[in-house]
Amino acid sequence: MLDLSPTLIYPLAAFVGLCLGSFLNVVIARLPVMLMRGWRAEAREALELPEEHNEPFNLVTPRSICPACEAPIAWHDNIPVIGWLKRRGRCANCHARISPQYPLVELAGGALAFAVAVLFGATWQGVFILGACLALLAMAVIDLRTQLLPDSLTLPLLWAGLLYQLLFQPLMLESAVIGAMAGYLTLWSFYWAFKLITGKEGMGYGDFKLLAALGAWMGWQYLPLLLILSAGVGAVLGILIQLALPRLRGAPMPFGPYLALAGWIALLAGEPLMAVYGSFFLV
Ligand SMILES: [Zn+2]
Repeated sequence: MLDLSPTLIYPLAAFVGLCLGSFLNVVIARLPVMLMRGWRAEAREALELPEEHNEPFNLVTPRSICPACEAPIAWHDNIPVIGWLKRRGRCANCHARISPQYPLVELAGGALAFAVAVLFGATWQGVFILGACLALLAMAVIDLRTQLLPDSLTLPLLWAGLLYQLLFQPLMLESAVIGAMAGYLTLWSFYWAFKLITGKEGMGYGDFKLLAALGAWMGWQYLPLLLILSAGVGAVLGILIQLALPRLRGAPMPFGPYLALAGWIALLAGEPLMAVYGSFFLV
């Protein structure tokens, strides 16, 4: 795409990633609220209740405010990571604590963009992969915070995966379509088997759609690896979290963040991993 030297591309990519991470923070904070509002409005309509009149609320309006005192946040306090560090994680107006989630998501965005730049260079393929990695980041944090995996993120990720194959690896298109279907069906089957045996719901439909999306990006051949990675990391982290924070024992654990983590690993280090995986399981 562009013929730039790595010394220029890498820091530039990291900077763009930090800024995109800052935008993801807005998506993470607002998308669940926007969905809730939409569902409330639909429910009121179905119940024939009068419409509620709310101030407009979307990804652009209103401006960012402090959740504690509602003071608007100045642009220079909104600079990725630096703004948070400068105020030592507190609101400039009321000194309420501001979650470290903000700088962490920004740093993750920067790190992902840096990794994609190193692995893919300044190519359109890299732009697509970065988009997928950032979408997974937003989904992971939204799922952690709200136990929701919005369709408005999982489904476009699936379509984008098919488009990616069509544009860059048309020979993979067949594996991608099978990957999307088999990904959905695998977790759907786990869900029903678990529900029939235990009477409990182990995961949500969002998880099926997320694995379907990853199947589209990676092809069906990667599904066992994605499941082993996400279930393995999920089991280890789940046990560690419950040991460290006993109050969380028995609390529902979202599966989306582990799928997202497996997705990053597969998108960024898929080929070497498949080689190792293949030598273990397919000899
Ligand atoms: Zn404040």
